[in-house]
Amino acid sequence: MSLSDILTSQIISQGPMRLDSYMTTCLLHPEHGYYTTRTPFGAAGDFITAPEISQMFGELVGLSLAQAWLNQGAPKPFSLVELGPGRGTLMADALRACSSVAGFVDAADIILLEASPALRAIQGKALTGFAPQWIDTIEDLPKQSTFFIANEFFDALPIRQFVRDGANWRERQVGLQDGALAFGLGPTQPQPALMHRIEDTKDGDLIEDCAAAAPILSILCERIKAYGGAGLVFDYGDWRTLGDTLQAIQNHAPADPLAAPGHADLTAHVDFEALLHASASCTPSRITPQGVFLERLGITPRAQALAQTLSGEALETHVAAHRRLTHPQEMGNLFKVFGIVPEGKPMLPGLDI
Ligand code: SAH
Repeated sequence: MSLSDILTSQIISQGPMRLDSYMTTCLLHPEHGYYTTRTPFGAAGDFITAPEISQMFGELVGLSLAQAWLNQGAPKPFSLVELGPGRGTLMADALRACSSVAGFVDAADIILLEASPALRAIQGKALTGFAPQWIDTIEDLPKQSTFFIANEFFDALPIRQFVRDGANWRERQVGLQDGALAFGLGPTQPQPALMHRIEDTKDGDLIEDCAAAAPILSILCERIKAYGGAGLVFDYGDWRTLGDTLQAIQNHAPADPLAAPGHADLTAHVDFEALLHASASCTPSRITPQGVFLERLGITPRAQALAQTLSGEALETHVAAHRRLTHPQEMGNLFKVFGIVPEGKPMLPGLDI
């Protein structure tokens, strides 16, 4: 039975599904889920992420966190956490770069929040020798200093979509039309959690809500506030999302999100307002373009140093990777980053308050 058949029979027996349930099933179904059945990242996969473009990304991210660790008195032991680590490349590059920071790697308990067993296995291989531990939910984070990174994690969390109808909302659902999966709208209902969006929307506007994001960030921030630490969140999105940003990507190209469940990556823009709101127990930085952040951390001299060791095609790939990560017309502006530190502590290098 394909995932499409499973979803169809579920809708026949239980009625139209919420979009967050549809996304979770497509991404994480134990047998057919997109993340459970494949390694989607890298040139051969459906999309490529910053750490897979160049080792420089993970190196600079790691060093920024290590500087924050030094600024806070080098606590030992501490949790070095990654949310949704993909192939483990970012963490591996960060640990290699941070081996030059005395005591950092030895004091780090590597903790990974990852839902996909297939990706856990790949992460374990990438991090051989570092004894990573996996957690199933963020509540399982140890109560100690916590330094974390999340790259393209929040955009993978399931969203709900609502269309404004007077002072109420109709939820966008996945149902069936002529036997095929199709979008429809549920009944008009009040949504107390969306009251703040009445002021900036009009009838017919569509907004998105990612309920899973805030609890994850709030718990990380509770640890950081109580025990020290810092965080870096990279993603693409807007301040208060408006409009449908649900995206399916298959073989590096946009696809219909309902056409091939489990075979395409599904993401949505993150709402930076909601993420900053959830970080309010700590001090978040300004939201900064990824390219600006990486330039401030010295990606260009690092790229030049690496270029000395390369020639031919490898050199061309390296130069293109530097451009791709930083140039405003590539990932440099589309992707944003913000940092989190405890109130009163120095902000992470490359960011300001
Ligand atoms: N950070 C990586 C991968 C980003 S893709 C990179 O930059 O290359 C999203 C990652 O989050 C994948 O590892 C995916 O399996 C994981 N993921 C998605 N939803 C999750 C969830 N609800 N809980 C834990 N991990 C999740």
